[in-house]
Amino acid sequence: MADADSETNTIESLTPTATAPRAPSTELQHTVMAVLLALFVVVAIVLGWPAVLPVAAAVGCTLLLQNKGRHRAMVSLHALEQFVHLAESETTPLTPPSVDCPDTARLARAIARLHAHHTTRTTRIEAEYEDMRRTLETIGHGLLVVDVQHRILRANRIAEQLFGLSPDGWRGRMLEECVREPAIHELVSRCLLSNEVAPEELRLGDASRVYLAAVEPLHSGQGRPDGVLLVLDDITRLRRLEAMRTDFAANISHELRTPITNIRGYAETLLQMDELDDAQVRQFTGIIAGNATRLATLIEDILTLSFLESPQSARTLEFVSAPIAPIIEEVVEILKPTTDAREIKVLIECDPSLSLRVNRTLLGQAITNLLTNAIKFSPDGSKVRIRVGADGDSVRLSVLDEGPGIAPEHHHRLFERFFRVDAARSRDRGGTGLGLAIVKHIARVHGGDAGVESTIGKGSTFFLQLPAGNPRGL
Ligand code: ADP
Repeated sequence: MADADSETNTIESLTPTATAPRAPSTELQHTVMAVLLALFVVVAIVLGWPAVLPVAAAVGCTLLLQNKGRHRAMVSLHALEQFVHLAESETTPLTPPSVDCPDTARLARAIARLHAHHTTRTTRIEAEYEDMRRTLETIGHGLLVVDVQHRILRANRIAEQLFGLSPDGWRGRMLEECVREPAIHELVSRCLLSNEVAPEELRLGDASRVYLAAVEPLHSGQGRPDGVLLVLDDITRLRRLEAMRTDFAANISHELRTPITNIRGYAETLLQMDELDDAQVRQFTGIIAGNATRLATLIEDILTLSFLESPQSARTLEFVSAPIAPIIEEVVEILKPTTDAREIKVLIECDPSLSLRVNRTLLGQAITNLLTNAIKFSPDGSKVRIRVGADGDSVRLSVLDEGPGIAPEHHHRLFERFFRVDAARSRDRGGTGLGLAIVKHIARVHGGDAGVESTIGKGSTFFLQLPAGNPRGL
């Protein structure tokens, strides 16, 4: 900086403003000297002093040369002045002006070098600043920088959105005035006082989102901090996933406990009772076998879900272009004993030429789950329809039943793991509560989704929406 200042002074001293006051007096001196010389020559001629004439001529020549040199210097300085003005506004390298005066030419070259150096440095600083600004904007966290007086010095877009700040409207304003979150004021104050503050979990805004707020003191030298950097990490999704995992573990334990208790209870009874008739033995072993089957189904469903949720599923699953009608017919055939027993008629409405890129096994499983539910909840002697049709860019496979229907308040939870409208009845019917969650995941690995439309008393329609083109990841 000191260099730049001294350089600036040098440049200023060269400008016409600095040199102008000296010019008129020099000009006057030269004019007076020329007039005196002319008078001297006239007097010498009149008085007949020819010997002094060469001296007068020499003085005259010197004066003339000096005047010419001075004129050249003035022109050079003027060119230099123009050059300095140009350098003030120009950001690309400049060529120094060609001037007659060697000193001024050296000075112009020095100014050109200084300008080039300054331009390179400014360009680099601007690029670094832009990089930093872009990094702060794309970092994915909310960032705020405040000084010791709690004035906001910097805020990125996420912080602006989070606290409802207008872009740049926060600059220099008090944190307390712009951010109405007492927990954050307190965190910043503590950081300014004690330097080290552990990150805290805060619910911000309408308390629907959870943030991990970390504060870091900013120092420009030794001693107390000059400011605080506040970093806000949105951990809402993480916390939600953790809650889901905890719920899932609790639900699994709950689901496993009943069949295991039943198996143990009946097996112990069989062991303890001395006299058992055949009918009792058959009844107890039947209950044990039924509970073992329930356990096996549950474990099978849990394994299927965990596979579908793992990143490995996207890598290992194979998708082939296959006609859809035969997959549906196969499922209907497998469930025929059940539908026959209850006189339920399954009608298939599917264009036999319709093919989709699918994983046959998984699509078969999704249709099985939907059809099993439809049969389970349908009255005896009713009809179940499986309808496949184009729907915009996708294909919709729907399973329609004439069952009791589902109240709208349950619709958004039906595809959650272990959700049942009536848990006891669902268990009695052999349901694991995972069937629809599996259907949703199968739809998603195909790049589609699953949904429901249902009205109480008018039956239900569960559907798979599958892309007509290539499924995701292929
Ligand atoms: P479950 O093994 O209990 O059937 P699902 O995930 O397949 O588990 O279904 C979740 C719940 O959705 C069921 O318990 C039931 O309450 C409801 N449900 C599913 N399909 C139907 C349907 N076709 N008609 C009425 N209710 C249904």
